[in-house]
Amino acid sequence: MAFVVEPCERSTLNIHNSDDLYPVRRIYCVGRNYADHALEMGGDPTREAPFYFTKPADAILKNGSDFPYPPETENLHYEAELVIAIGKVGKNVSVDEALDYVYGYAVGIDFTRRDLQAASKKKGRPWDTAKGFDHSAPCSEIYPVSENGHIDDARIWLTVNGETRQDSNTNKMIWSVAEVIANLSELFTLKPGDLIYTGTPEGVGPVIKGDEIKVGVDGLSELEIKVV
Ligand code: MN
Repeated sequence: MAFVVEPCERSTLNIHNSDDLYPVRRIYCVGRNYADHALEMGGDPTREAPFYFTKPADAILKNGSDFPYPPETENLHYEAELVIAIGKVGKNVSVDEALDYVYGYAVGIDFTRRDLQAASKKKGRPWDTAKGFDHSAPCSEIYPVSENGHIDDARIWLTVNGETRQDSNTNKMIWSVAEVIANLSELFTLKPGDLIYTGTPEGVGPVIKGDEIKVGVDGLSELEIKVV
């Protein structure tokens, strides 16, 4: 048997201090997980149940890459996010046990075609074209929990051309890492290779061609992307 078309290459992420790779299976994203970002988007900052959207696995863009400005938008926004890398199969996981399912953490950008998202919201349509476009999920290398521990109280920041645009702390997440994993595992069977982008703090905004974006979470590698 042979494939009738060339099978696509699997997306991977590098592991800090290792030549090994993390194979990406799915990319889940949490919507509005910081109160001040929910407010700036005109949303509700209270603890309503978390909601999710996804990006295709091949939307991953590795650290140091050029990010091609996507078509069909005039309002491309960055969103700095802590990324969870799942390490084992999880279904109906309890909050108490949820952290056992984390392989490691990374830093990512949830790039968003904000104009398309606004149009989708207005019509009650899905967000795929706003969120799931090519290269829309830049991500740093992963820091394994076995070496680095968990991230629960860390500064998260983003700069554009050296100017700070986002500066918050992961302890301000409305739904914690453990709560997100537990809740998501009720909706989907989590598997090794699943990434969860945990939402962005306030300060989102547009970028244009030529902009250099740096994102960091204390304790993890910085992610650097140039918009071209
Ligand atoms: Mn986001």
